[in-house]
Amino acid sequence: MIESPAHPAYQNGYIDTRGQTAEPLPFSTVIIQGLATGGGLFVPQTIPQLTMAEILELAKHPYASQATFIYHCFGVDYPDAAIEVLMQASYGENFTAPEVAPLVEAAPQTFLLELMHGPTSAFKDMALQCLPHFFSVALQSSQDNAIPLHLILVATSGDTGPAAQQGFKDRPHTAVIVFYPKDGVSDIQKRQMTTLAGQNVGAVGVEGNFDDCQKAVKAIFDDPTFAATLSERGVRLSSANSINWGRLLPQVVYFVSAYARLAATGSLLPGDKIDVCVPTGNFGHILAAWYARQLGVPISHLYCASNDNHVLTDFLKTGVYDISDRPFKLTPSPSMDILVSSNLERLLFELNGRNPLLIRQWMADLASKGKFQVDSQTFAALQQVFCADWVSSEDSLSTIREVFRETGYLLEPHTAVAWKVAERLRPSTEQAVLITVTAHWVKFVEDVYRALNGLSPEQALPEEIASLTGSQLATMMQTEYKTGSLPAYLADLDKQPIRHKAISAKTDQAIRQAIIDWLDEHGY
Ligand SMILES: *Cc1c(COP(=O)(O)O)cnc(C)c1O
Repeated sequence: MIESPAHPAYQNGYIDTRGQTAEPLPFSTVIIQGLATGGGLFVPQTIPQLTMAEILELAKHPYASQATFIYHCFGVDYPDAAIEVLMQASYGENFTAPEVAPLVEAAPQTFLLELMHGPTSAFKDMALQCLPHFFSVALQSSQDNAIPLHLILVATSGDTGPAAQQGFKDRPHTAVIVFYPKDGVSDIQKRQMTTLAGQNVGAVGVEGNFDDCQKAVKAIFDDPTFAATLSERGVRLSSANSINWGRLLPQVVYFVSAYARLAATGSLLPGDKIDVCVPTGNFGHILAAWYARQLGVPISHLYCASNDNHVLTDFLKTGVYDISDRPFKLTPSPSMDILVSSNLERLLFELNGRNPLLIRQWMADLASKGKFQVDSQTFAALQQVFCADWVSSEDSLSTIREVFRETGYLLEPHTAVAWKVAERLRPSTEQAVLITVTAHWVKFVEDVYRALNGLSPEQALPEEIASLTGSQLATMMQTEYKTGSLPAYLADLDKQPIRHKAISAKTDQAIRQAIIDWLDEHGY
């Protein structure tokens, strides 16, 4: 454990962005509650400050201890020894890299932070291997433990679903059902979700797109009649999506850790400023980098990278968030195909002088007019730290090809978007940039194949390729391109029986029935 006498456990509570939380709430409460009453998001009352010495010290310790230290600094209301135990369970052999999140210098002053070594090869594992442990302990110590089952519903475009299932698998008093677009996820993602063994996990393929899944799940959360039906069975709904602070805080850890390790290995001098480029969807990941910057990590600028769905790029350039006339586009980077980036609300609150009235106004405008405009001071504060750009589907695939040719590093489509944006936005090639690698390329192997073979994103794969499973294609590509090792679970994925076969129409009624069916089958 890292001694931290300099931080007399911050008496940190959480307030919310819409000013509806009367008394600051402790960490253990906000991770169970997820969203504040009134729809606001929880933020820490105070943001701790680390000294450079404290940041550098982290590099001498295992990742679990680094995470413990950051949680301690944020005043997480569990004893340090308990946090350390939970972190060791969160970041142990379930990650295939001993550093958990290794760093690779792929080009001069271009550092890749690999966040895809968890059990589902997506960066979502970084948070979802951690949150469920804290969630279970919080349940045990709250009156909520009288509720037999906390049922977590997840709408997923492919990455969150498997990571949530893996994280909550076998956690007592919890279950997770994921809703994925039946024909809208990759072969590997679908197999990950439908084959996972575990009494408390489920998956439902929805006859619709991701948006349909998300709308249906949101409608269920807003339905008191259905909540009452579930309550009679001893079931309460919970959410584990990235508006939960318990998913954000684990992400702050790896940004601090990465800086400490870059300084420890001499890639940076202590105090040197680095820029950070993040492929952005719901804005959780890049917001975690912003919190790391507030903690004292010498981050100069944050680059917000988007794909064809570039509402954030436009917002960060104009101060106007406008989805009133914006079509939703499907791209090779589905985890960034998003129009409403929920976590932006937290940043706006932090930068508008923590004014909940302004937030309520903006969010009301978004709901009624499909757009809002921030005031000039907030906009100036945004522009001081953030810059943004977006990359077309075509360019994201050609970036995969070019980077592989030039550096031998095989990017997946989300990270490729970030790479291209970093290339465009960095002030010079001397400026150190940290780019986060958010998935293993095997999860998006079909598009990586297109990229390396010069096919466009819409082009059909040749018959002999299309007939392969994701694992088979990944193995073939590994041999052909000598890409380094594949995730171990891939070897077995095709042999696993399909355990979760449910398919549902996209109507609210059908989705509710799918939940009831699952509960019936599992004795609730
Ligand atoms: C979720 C995800 C992102 C985006 O992260 P946000 O926190 O939603 O901004 C980027 N890349 C991949 C592969 C993801 O799964």
